Amino acid sequence: MARARTTFVVQNTIRLSEHLIRVHLGGPGFAAFEPNAFTDAYVKLAFPGPDGDTMRTYTVRSIDTAAQEIAIDFVYHGDEGVAGPWAAAAEPGDTIDLLGPGGAYAPRPDADWHLLAGDDSALPAIAAACAALPADAVGRVFVEIAGPADELAFVYPEGVKLTWIHRGDAAPGELLAAAVRAEPWLDGQVQVFIHGEAQAVMHDLRPYIRKERGITAEWASSISGYWRRGRTEEGFRRWKSDLAEAEKSAPAGV
Ligand SMILES: Cc1cc2nc3c(=O)[nH]c(=O)nc-3n(C[C@H](O)[C@H](O)[C@H](O)COP(=O)(O)OP(=O)(O)OC[C@H]3O[C@@H](n4cnc5c(N)ncnc54)[C@H](O)[C@@H]3O)c2cc1C
Repeated sequence: MARARTTFVVQNTIRLSEHLIRVHLGGPGFAAFEPNAFTDAYVKLAFPGPDGDTMRTYTVRSIDTAAQEIAIDFVYHGDEGVAGPWAAAAEPGDTIDLLGPGGAYAPRPDADWHLLAGDDSALPAIAAACAALPADAVGRVFVEIAGPADELAFVYPEGVKLTWIHRGDAAPGELLAAAVRAEPWLDGQVQVFIHGEAQAVMHDLRPYIRKERGITAEWASSISGYWRRGRTEEGFRRWKSDLAEAEKSAPAGV
């Protein structure tokens, strides 16, 4: 990820659904922003605090070169945290520093079909991937959201089947994992993209894809948590590094 830090200015905000807020960022930072070829392009946002910056990671949902702005869709998950409440209160003229973009995934044209699954935090990346799929692409897309008021229109090819999963009172990721497991597996080479609540993704869906379905890292490298229930992003980073250490000492892991 490019380390140059740039300052963006909030142009406007749009309430996309009950829990999703789109913030358009432009201003002087845009000129220095170098897009990459990944559909899961992400940036690190720097929120200043008394003890230094708090960094948060967000997908670049879209880039509008004519308007000179990028769009970021924030899940508003309540009053807890830094980034969600910031997005809810953001007003035109507010500034925010960001680093990036990084990224790792884009749909491969040589895949026979695409499996994309995630919760509302991964919806921006899933929607960006769907927009990049060729018209004749085949896919299965699963998005877990709080409820019907969070369903959102986005474009995807005719051969893609989209399933909305309403979380209700279930634990984050639980119903998503069940739905992905219940979906009949298609023939041919799949490419997989799965992100969301870390416990469900790393301890249920990743073993399902990598071990039970036998999909190699070449086709299923983009499976990971985007956040961890009950942990801030700092706590989540520690959780990830503990998991990576545990997997190093248990080579049979996926
Ligand atoms: C590569 C990448 C791309 C991402 N892209 C996006 C994106 O486009 N949009 C987006 O909204 N998020 C995205 N995320 C997830 C986002 O970084 C985290 O949700 C982050 O923790 C939010 O920061 P916060 O300051 O709002 O909450 P934090 O201070 O980190 O956490 C406060 C509390 O809120 C809980 N929490 C955090 N996120 C959620 C959530 N989504 N739902 C319910 N509870 C939550 C935590 O468990 C914690 O208890 C992405 C993460 C990664 C790694």
